[in-house]
Amino acid sequence: MLDEFSIPLNLIDRRVIQMRIVSPSNLVVDFGKTLKPHEFVAMLRREFLRQRDESSGATLLKALVTNLVVPTSTREPYVIHYTMDNCQHQLAVDVIIGADGANSRVAKSINAGNYTTAIAYQERIKLPEDKMGYYENLAEMYIGNDVSPDFYAWVFPKCDHVAVGTGTIGSKPYIKSLQCGIKARVKSKIEGGEVIKVEAHPIPQHPRPIRVRGRVALVGDAAGYVTNCSGEGIYFAAKSGRMCGEAIVKASEGGENMINEDDLKREYLRKWDDKYFTTFKFLNLLEKVFYGSNAAREALVELCGDEYVQRMTFDSYFYKKLASGNRWEEAKIAINTISSLVRCNFLGREMDGSAQKILSRIF
Ligand SMILES: Cc1cc2nc3c(=O)[nH]c(=O)nc-3n(C[C@H](O)[C@H](O)[C@H](O)COP(=O)(O)OP(=O)(O)OC[C@H]3O[C@@H](n4cnc5c(N)ncnc54)[C@H](O)[C@@H]3O)c2cc1C
Repeated sequence: MLDEFSIPLNLIDRRVIQMRIVSPSNLVVDFGKTLKPHEFVAMLRREFLRQRDESSGATLLKALVTNLVVPTSTREPYVIHYTMDNCQHQLAVDVIIGADGANSRVAKSINAGNYTTAIAYQERIKLPEDKMGYYENLAEMYIGNDVSPDFYAWVFPKCDHVAVGTGTIGSKPYIKSLQCGIKARVKSKIEGGEVIKVEAHPIPQHPRPIRVRGRVALVGDAAGYVTNCSGEGIYFAAKSGRMCGEAIVKASEGGENMINEDDLKREYLRKWDDKYFTTFKFLNLLEKVFYGSNAAREALVELCGDEYVQRMTFDSYFYKKLASGNRWEEAKIAINTISSLVRCNFLGREMDGSAQKILSRIF
C-alpha cells in the first residue's frame, strides 16, 4: 500500500517486524522470522490521504450528509442534502461513490441491503516508558474463548501508546467482558498504563448484497470490503475507491459522457471481484476453521510456527494476492494441519460442528 499509494514514509509511526501469536493455553509463536529486510507492518495515521485529495483538486466539504434523493429517470441528478456550519445545503451530482463506512447512509438510500457485522472494541493505552519499550516493534495477537469466541484480540503499538482491543461477531453484548479477557492476559505488560481513548465500531463480515445501483457505487466498508481472519480494511477501502474512480473516468471518457449502472458493474464491480473474490472467500474459510474453538486455535498457533506458513501468510498479506505455493510444502502443511487438529482435540477440547464440516470438505 505504501508503494502503490505513494504514502510518505514519515507518516509511519511504527515499523512492526515481530508478530507474536498466543494460543488459548499461552503457547507463544513468533511470526516474523521470514521477513525480508525491507518488509514490515506499518502502523500509521490515515488523515494524510484526505489532505492529498484536496491538493489534487478535490473540494472537501466538512459536512454531515443527512439525505440522498434518488432520481426517477436515468439522466436526472442525485441530490445530496447535507448540514454544514449549522445550515442545510443541497448538491446535485451525476455520480456518487459511497465511501461512508459501515453505517453508510448512501447504502441505505439505494436499498443496498445489509451485511453481518462484527464489533471491534479497542482502548488506546499510554504505557510507562519501560513498558512501551517492550512493544517497540512488536504486535501481539491473542486467541481463545476468553478474548473472543470467533476472532482475535490484539496489542498493536501506535506512535506513543498501544491499542489493546478485541472483536466478535456473535457475542456483541459481551464485548466488554472480552475486553477484560485480553486485558487480563496482558496485565503485567500494560500495568500502570492510562486509557486515553476508547473506540467501538462495526466491521463488515462480507460484501453487501448490492454494491452498485444506478449511478451509485459503494466502496470500502460501505461495500463490505474487510477481510475475515485479519480484519483488514484500510488497503481495500483505498484500493476500491481508486478502482471505482478510475472506472468512472474511463466509462465517462474523462467526464464527457453520462455513465450508467452497466458501466459501473463492468468497469468496477467485475474487475474488483476478479481480483479479490477468491482471497476474501479463502480468508472466510480459514476464519471458520481456525477461530471456531480453542482446539482449532491451538492448532493454528502450532502451524504458525512453520516457516513456510509464515512466508505464505506474509506474502499474501504484503502483496495482497494469494501467494502461489510449492505442492510438496502444501501437502506437508495439509498433513500437519490434520495432525495438529487431531492432537489438539485429543488433548481434550472439542472442535465445533461447523469447523469439522468445513475441514472434512477441504481434506
Ligand atoms: C477498532 C478497529 C481496528 C481496526 N484495525 C485495522 C487495522 O489494523 N488494519 C486495517 O486494515 N483495518 C483495520 N480496521 C478496519 C478499517 O478501519 C476499515 O476497514 C477502514 O477504515 C474502512 O475505510 P472506509 O474509508 O471505507 O470507512 P471509514 O474509515 O469508516 O470512513 C468513513 C468516513 O465517512 C464519514 N461519514 C460517514 N457517514 C457520513 C455522513 N452521513 N456524512 C458525512 N460523512 C460521513 C465518516 O466520518 C468517515 O470519515 C479496524 C477497524 C476498527 C473498528
